[in-house]
Amino acid sequence: MALNRAWHESHPMPPNANLDQRIAWHLEHARECGCRAIPASVLKALEERRIPIPERRVS
Ligand SMILES: [Zn+2]
Repeated sequence: MALNRAWHESHPMPPNANLDQRIAWHLEHARECGCRAIPASVLKALEERRIPIPERRVS
C-alpha cells in the first residue's frame, strides 16, 4: 500500500483524539491513502452509526 505522505503531513491525528475525531480521520484517510486499514474499534463505530465503510484503496 502506498503512503500518501503529503496527506499525512497535512492531516495529523489529533493527540488524544476522541472517537468522532478518529472516525472522521479514518474516513478521510481511507479515501486519500492506503497505508493502513481502519482499526476494528473504528469499524465497529461506523457499523453502529450506519456509516458505509469505505473500500480500502488499492494503489
Ligand atoms: Zn496513510
